[in-house]
Amino acid sequence: MNFEQLVRPNIQRLTPYSCARDEFKGKAAHVFLDANENPYNAPLNRYPDPLQEELKQELSRVKGVPPTHMFLGNGSDEAIDLVYRIFCEPKVDNVVAIAPTYGMYEVCAHINDVEYRSVPLDEGFRLNADKLLAACDSKTKAVWLCSPNNPTGNCLLRSEVERVISEFPGIVVVDEAYSDFSQQRPFRLDLPQYPNLIVLNTMSKAWGCAAIRLGMAFADPAIIALFNKVKYPYNVNLLTQQQAAEMLHNLPKLQQWLTTICTERSHLLPAVAELPLCRRLYPTDANFFLAEVTDADSIYHYLVERGIIVRNRNRVVLCGNCLRITIGTPQENCELLAALRQYR
Ligand code: PMP
Repeated sequence: MNFEQLVRPNIQRLTPYSCARDEFKGKAAHVFLDANENPYNAPLNRYPDPLQEELKQELSRVKGVPPTHMFLGNGSDEAIDLVYRIFCEPKVDNVVAIAPTYGMYEVCAHINDVEYRSVPLDEGFRLNADKLLAACDSKTKAVWLCSPNNPTGNCLLRSEVERVISEFPGIVVVDEAYSDFSQQRPFRLDLPQYPNLIVLNTMSKAWGCAAIRLGMAFADPAIIALFNKVKYPYNVNLLTQQQAAEMLHNLPKLQQWLTTICTERSHLLPAVAELPLCRRLYPTDANFFLAEVTDADSIYHYLVERGIIVRNRNRVVLCGNCLRITIGTPQENCELLAALRQYR
């Protein structure tokens, strides 16, 4: 991989903004008159740590990835957008992604005026590395994979993902937003083998913290340096950094949630599969599942009338008449099942 050639020339040349908190890092100081802050209203008066070093230490313990290999952002969505802004020249470069998958990869491509090429997954939503690689050309800067995939729920076959990472001479992003719900080995643990790999994680799913907006990108320090060069100086606010650190000290709680959600998943799926309205249920490694039903639009509206909201994926490629349903609390899942049983 020729790393220099992958990065947009304007980003290679960029002198990043140097903020007050970057310039002075000594611990001994106690009078801070360098950032035009109000001296009152501590701690909210101070800009937060631009590189979130304490939080990265905590995350490192939980994720098994060194802080040097981490970028933290305002949700994974910030990291997704940064991939385009760092690597993809508008109107010139392209990216290749599986389909169906998480919609923001495509939206961010359009916002950044970058061509987005979709490669449909095979039967059973399986990744075919040959097909994906055949869609890449000399202007393909990044490949998007998502495992467990949204909205299909399945993990992509590891050997196929490994082939894409090894054979594609550019950036490969593996979005593992849902990996905590799966038994498969996460790709973030294999970073040392792959200098072109970016793995995305988030606190929005298993960690129950969608409200605080904290996403992670794990990658080689050379890629992390580019993320830090281009990001907004104070991209993760103090309240988010504090709340995330607090959550990370409560691993038993996370384990308890995961156990409950995975147990519920194992009860709910067979029950849904037996319903007359269910045509096909796709296996899932995530906290949601995709069900092909007799009439997705009608069942969606029927559930809305009862105050139950699922995601209608009827108009998504390869997902005709499919609903994507998140695993809720035992009571919520019971209510869903009861409503579906009464559907005529
Ligand atoms: N990746 C995937 C695969 C997702 O499904 C989602 C949210 N639905 C995200 C990323 C977004 O995560 P965040 O809340 O961290 O922006």
